[in-house]
Amino acid sequence: MYGEYLKEPIGSIYFFIMFATLSSAILMFRYAVTLRRFLKSFMKISQKVSDGELHSRIQTSASGELGQLARNFNYMMETMENTIEEVEYKHLQLTSVLKSISHGILVIDIDGNIILINDEARKMIKSSCPGEEEGKNIKQIINEMQILTGIKKYIGTRGSNSNDLYLEDETVYKLKIDPVYLQNSKNAIIGSIINIEDITEIIKLENMRKDFVANVSHELKTPLTSINGFVETLIMNENIEVDKRNRFLAIIQKEADRLKRLIEDILLLSSIESKSSIIAEKIRVFDVFKEVYEMVSYITIDKQIDILYNFENEDIFIEGNSDYLKQLFLNLVDNAIKYTAPEGTVEINQYTTNDNVVIEVIDNGVGIPKEDISKIFQRFYRVDKARSRAVGGTGLGLAITKHIVNSLKGTIRVESELNKGSKFIVVLPKKIS
Ligand code: ADP
Repeated sequence: MYGEYLKEPIGSIYFFIMFATLSSAILMFRYAVTLRRFLKSFMKISQKVSDGELHSRIQTSASGELGQLARNFNYMMETMENTIEEVEYKHLQLTSVLKSISHGILVIDIDGNIILINDEARKMIKSSCPGEEEGKNIKQIINEMQILTGIKKYIGTRGSNSNDLYLEDETVYKLKIDPVYLQNSKNAIIGSIINIEDITEIIKLENMRKDFVANVSHELKTPLTSINGFVETLIMNENIEVDKRNRFLAIIQKEADRLKRLIEDILLLSSIESKSSIIAEKIRVFDVFKEVYEMVSYITIDKQIDILYNFENEDIFIEGNSDYLKQLFLNLVDNAIKYTAPEGTVEINQYTTNDNVVIEVIDNGVGIPKEDISKIFQRFYRVDKARSRAVGGTGLGLAITKHIVNSLKGTIRVESELNKGSKFIVVLPKKIS
């Protein structure tokens, strides 16, 4: 009886224990399944993220700790994606800025390792591995020795340093090196910014300007010295014979004329050079030529030179400044007359090819030696100084002509043979309507 009494509660306890064990086993199994599912999707998403799919997010409806973990992960991804986008945008901005800078830019650390470089700098330093410079040392990369020496000299020094490098191929670079300081510290230099500028053209222009000033001074000084000398002689010798006095006065007049022509030509040259856009009017080429023809005909008669012209079409137009075209004709025809002996011939031809007007000025005069042909368009260049001076030349006529042709967007070239004659060929774009 007592045993029966005891059996029942023990059975209930067993049953309860079994029930409890089973329930917790089921719960643990369900939890394990959920956890496994969560871990699987977590692993899948983390794999995607490491493959670069930063927009991937964990899709879960789980609540509790797993849900919180998923939300935290998604939030972390959101922040990371925004930060990376921002960094990428900043990098893109920097690369675009560096690309559009016409100077070579190079950023190095204190040991000379390259941190940043743009395309222009790559070309200038003659990079030994284009596109893969970052992280490498300047000694491995820079093949232009002058640049390398220039940088090494100032690496880690305080303040800006700049010097001009004259390379063997006649290129001139301005190398500027500035230190990069550690943020908020004016003492710790952590690298350098190098700016390389190609100043070849600037130096060339500067030299041309210096040469021009020297030439002008020389050209002006010669007639002035002569005028001065004769004036002084006349002042000192009151009783000079009339013949002699007149001869001196004639020289003074000739030199003064030369000075005037020189100054006029210099002013004309600088006015053509300084005008970036000339007045664009529609010009009938033949009308302008006719004016010049009339102007020079008295000289040709005087010098007994036959001047002939042959215009294929008198109704051809170009666009530009008619005063300049007149000056162009005048310089070429005047030279042809000047450098042709009496009884010679000067011929002016005009014809069209495609959309161009071709003007030829031909003479059977002294001609130009082969080695001088490429130089005659330079300012003050004269094949024979004495001959040019004797015929009243300034040495600027062809330089002016070349500038005019350029301003009319045309070309000019010469064919010449010594003692046989010269042919100047000008090609100008035709005005279509
Ligand atoms: P210049 O005032 O001395 O004539 P230009 O600039 O007009 O100066 O010409 C430069 C030089 O080119 C001249 O000094 C001359 O030696 C040569 N030259 C120009 N045109 C002719 C030509 N038609 N025949 C021969 N030589 C010429």
